[in-house]
Order: sequence, then structure tokens, then C-alpha cells
Amino acid sequence: MAKVIILSGAGISAESGISTFRDGGGLWEKHKIEDVCYAGCLETNRKLTIDFYDSRREELKDKEPNYAHKVIAKLKNKYKEQIAVITQNIDDMFEKAGCDKVLHLHGFLRELKCEKCGNILDIAYEKQDTKYETCPKCQNKLRPNIVFFAEIAPKYEDMYKEFDDCEFFVVIGTSGAVINTDMFLNPDIKVSILNNLEPSGYLMEEVYTKVLHKKASEAIDEIAFDIEKFLKEEK
Ligand code: NAD
Repeated sequence: MAKVIILSGAGISAESGISTFRDGGGLWEKHKIEDVCYAGCLETNRKLTIDFYDSRREELKDKEPNYAHKVIAKLKNKYKEQIAVITQNIDDMFEKAGCDKVLHLHGFLRELKCEKCGNILDIAYEKQDTKYETCPKCQNKLRPNIVFFAEIAPKYEDMYKEFDDCEFFVVIGTSGAVINTDMFLNPDIKVSILNNLEPSGYLMEEVYTKVLHKKASEAIDEIAFDIEKFLKEEK
């Protein structure tokens, strides 16, 4: 398991032109989060929900990773076993930056998932629309491979495993409203860095060893320097 965990949220992709949840005061790309992001919205709001993720997927095509994604990708690829890259984001900015093995806790926008057999299809930037209504394996309904609020997030288990050996914890661009990262700060974690544009009411900044209030692209060199220094001293 990894010694260093880098856990990111929507803020890391803000500089790539992908809006965060909090930007719109509870609206995500002009939609109410409860309409398109809650358990059950595929039953009550199927067309709106599918159209919403179709639009987000289409928009992703032209988005580019920013400097923070690129630095993290380089670091992860250099220290494959020692570093875990975990994100709440559903975008593919780390993948576009060439990052090896990213754990997406809340799903992956490019993918559809069969509601019955769990088969996963990468449709890249295409619309689900009517083209991908049913699973090619079992003919049951396909849905965006996104974990909605109040749904079980199966990848959380993989994240908890990574924390078994974690000694260096980095949090970038998350308000802590969905995952409160304070809860991971156990005594085995020697260094913890929190980078957000501004303080969040959900997080207790005093429990982190370093807090950086700046854009991720401006904080990332210092974060990468600290990680490498730590890994070299640990050898
Ligand atoms: P959030 O919107 O609640 O919080 C964003 C945080 O990022 C804020 O604390 C803000 O200060 C910080 N921030 C904004 N711009 C920043 C920058 N340039 N550099 C550093 N920090 C910056 O997002 P969240 O905590 O990730 O939680 C909301 C949920 O939103 C997640 O579950 C995620 O799946 C989903 N989401 C994902 C995307 C995406 O895939 N890019 C976009 C919107 C929402």
C-alpha cells in the first residue's frame, strides 16, 4: 500500500475550466445537484440526468489537464508503488496527463455501467443518448458510471486500504463536504498538507501540518518537493 496519498477534489480541475460544485452555490453547471446527482434521479429524471452527463462528457473532450495534474502524474509515474493518486473527480484530467493508476472514488464520466451486471463501457466523449441504451452483454439498462449522493461508493474500500500504510497525506481542491478528509489524520500520518483556494467550513485546518491557500497550480511545486524529500529520507 502507498506511503503517500494525494486525494483531490473538484478544485484541482477548476483551472482546467471544469467548474466545482461550490462555485455555483449548490448548482453544478446551472443544474440543481439534487436533480441530477442523487440516488433515484435516474428513475424520476432519467432523460434530464442522462442529458446532463452527456453534456459534461462532451465538454470534457476539449479540456486539458493543468500544471497540477501534470506534476502529480510525473510524480506518480516515478514512484508508482509509494504514491496513490485518489480523486473524487469524475473527469479524465489525470489520465490525459498520463498518470498511471488513478482511483476514481465517484466514478468516471467517460464510462457507462450496466445497472444489472455491472459491465463497464468506455464511450470516450460520445453521448449515451439512445445509442447506448442497453448493455451489450445482458441487454439491461446502461447508466452513467457515476456514484450519486446516497449511493454506495464501492471504491471507498480501496481507498481505506491505501491508508493502512500512509504516512504522508495531501489533500487538494476539496471542501470536505462529501469526504471529510480530517477523519483520515491518524497518528501514523507524519505529514499532512491541505491545499484549497480558501478555508472551508467543513475542514479543521489546524489539524494539518501545512495549509496552502492558493491555486493548485501554484502550490503543486512545493507539495511535490515535500513529497520527494520525504520519500528520499525514508529510503
Ligand atoms: P467542492 O466544489 O465542494 O470544493 C472545491 C474546493 O476546491 C473548495 O474548497 C475550493 O476552495 C477549492 N478550489 C477551487 N479552486 C481551486 C484551485 N484552483 N486550486 C485549489 N483549490 C481550489 O468539491 P469537492 O470537495 O470535490 O466535492 C464535491 C463533489 O463534486 C465530489 O464528489 C466530486 O465528485 C464532484 N465534482 C467533480 C467535478 C470534476 O470531476 N471535475 C466537478 C464538480 C463536482
